[in-house]
Amino acid sequence: MRKRASPAEAEIAEQLRKRTEELAEANRRRERLMSIVIHEIKGPLTIINGYAQILQRAITHGEVIDIGALNTIRDQVKRLARLMENLSDVNMIEGGHLELEKAPCDIVKLARSVVQDQQSTTQVHRLKLHAPKASIVGDWDCDRLAQALNNLISNAIKYSPQGGDVEVSIHRTNKEVAVEVLDHGIGIAPEDMPYVFEPFSRLYLKAEVRGMGLGLFITRGIVETHGGRIWVESKPGVGSKFTFTLPIEEPIHPSAGNSSIVIGPRATP
Ligand code: ADP
Repeated sequence: MRKRASPAEAEIAEQLRKRTEELAEANRRRERLMSIVIHEIKGPLTIINGYAQILQRAITHGEVIDIGALNTIRDQVKRLARLMENLSDVNMIEGGHLELEKAPCDIVKLARSVVQDQQSTTQVHRLKLHAPKASIVGDWDCDRLAQALNNLISNAIKYSPQGGDVEVSIHRTNKEVAVEVLDHGIGIAPEDMPYVFEPFSRLYLKAEVRGMGLGLFITRGIVETHGGRIWVESKPGVGSKFTFTLPIEEPIHPSAGNSSIVIGPRATP
């Protein structure tokens, strides 16, 4: 008759079973991740190859060269370069060695410029900036913060395909500044909320998504490397509000008040 496993043996068997399951899951994740990366690289390469052939034929037959084809090739090369930059950022953040080039940075001026740039990408959204009149300067990496804010605002635009207002607000307390990006878009399902800041969040989300799911992971990495926090509140069909904070050491300017700037196609003076 077989001897019954002792409690210690049963525990070891259970640990082994768990570990095997974890390894299998890690393997499945790696495979899905590879297929996402391959897909993201293949797309632009196929387009570049197609247009290069068109140009080659035109040159061979002495035809006029299509500038549109050249522009498309350049756009796709930019897309690949962006992808490589994102992958490199993920690598640095995961390894804990994202380096910041800190210098005095005015978050109000920065937000104004990012909002203006993003407004030029859409005709159907109106971007509003609610910010204090006075500057808010901190010892931050302005380029990295611009990247973070661009990610949040481009998501707000991308995930509110029907258009509408996207509101960026900046509030300051003694110790920190808070930046909010609010949209009235599709929102996030409660079961997807724990995963949106995960790298390659497309691996986990049930929602139909475009992109690789790296933007929010990188944004969180930038904010946290500055010593700040980031979180999201969202309701499906109602919209989302992403907020991040940054620590600040400067004293509050006594004349700092709130004002609203509306930048957009339907902006009124
Ligand atoms: P990507 O947009 O490339 O998929 P992100 O890391 O920027 O990657 O976002 C991760 C996921 O979080 C998105 O795929 C989307 O499902 C969700 N998400 C991000 N921002 C928003 C938003 N403003 N509204 C609704 N869903 C969002």
